[in-house]
Amino acid sequence: LASSEVKHEPSQVKVGDSVVIGGDKVVVMAGPCSVESEEQIIESARLVKAAGATMLRGGAFKPRTSPYSFQGLEEEGLKMLAKARELTGLPFVTEVINPETVDLVADYADMLQIGARNSQNFALLKKVGQCGKPILLKRGMAMTIQEFLMSAEYIMSEGNQGVILCERGIRTFETATRNTLDLSAIPVLKMKTHLPIVIDPSHGTGNYHYVAPMCYAAVAAGADALIVEVHPDPERASSDGPQSLKPKKFAAMMEKLRLFAEAD
Ligand code: PEP
Ligand code: MN
Repeated sequence: LASSEVKHEPSQVKVGDSVVIGGDKVVVMAGPCSVESEEQIIESARLVKAAGATMLRGGAFKPRTSPYSFQGLEEEGLKMLAKARELTGLPFVTEVINPETVDLVADYADMLQIGARNSQNFALLKKVGQCGKPILLKRGMAMTIQEFLMSAEYIMSEGNQGVILCERGIRTFETATRNTLDLSAIPVLKMKTHLPIVIDPSHGTGNYHYVAPMCYAAVAAGADALIVEVHPDPERASSDGPQSLKPKKFAAMMEKLRLFAEAD
């Protein structure tokens, strides 16, 4: 179902009432790694919107490497995201980490995220295939392109064709970055599938210094969307502060992306 041999035209995925991923405009989803409080997510939504983002991101269920790290605000976090949407009009994407909470997350979210650590959790993939909302599927950190497409197939074979593929860096021998962002996945996936492609340079590099250059490169290489971690005060973030952009840096990056789009 995901193959470009079966469907030749690129797919467009609609999110909420206003966003289309896979059209002529690059969609930018931005916001904090985790929802931390109502004030924090509302402030984040306002500032990413002012800079030109058309979707909000924020984690309420956090799949952390350590069980002792912040695990997220769960349903309270979903309510805060919904409040931020009500105030700004931005649809949001948020992660779902197990089959039991898919219906709950789908009640609130405009798009459900499957994280890298769950990208081959087949019970979860099948369940989100039945939820009726579009899915942002992340590539696992040790996943081949073929395996990535098979995970998309698990969702689509349950009836959900609204899948967006997210490259978020893979694990290599390199330690200067948190992961190695595989930008060649963009042209490779464009050959193999009609599904839209989103690049996550925040998890892909793990360092805010490298986020803007990777965004420019991703757009030049044909990405349909970007998902970027932005925090009003990264030093105090409960998760992923070192890779989160400050509001000013994010706004400057968005400005430059607009210049590229005009030159195109
Ligand atoms: C996230 O988006 O905050 C996240 C946990 O991402 P990943 O699954 O790519 O590590
Ligand atoms: Mn994160």
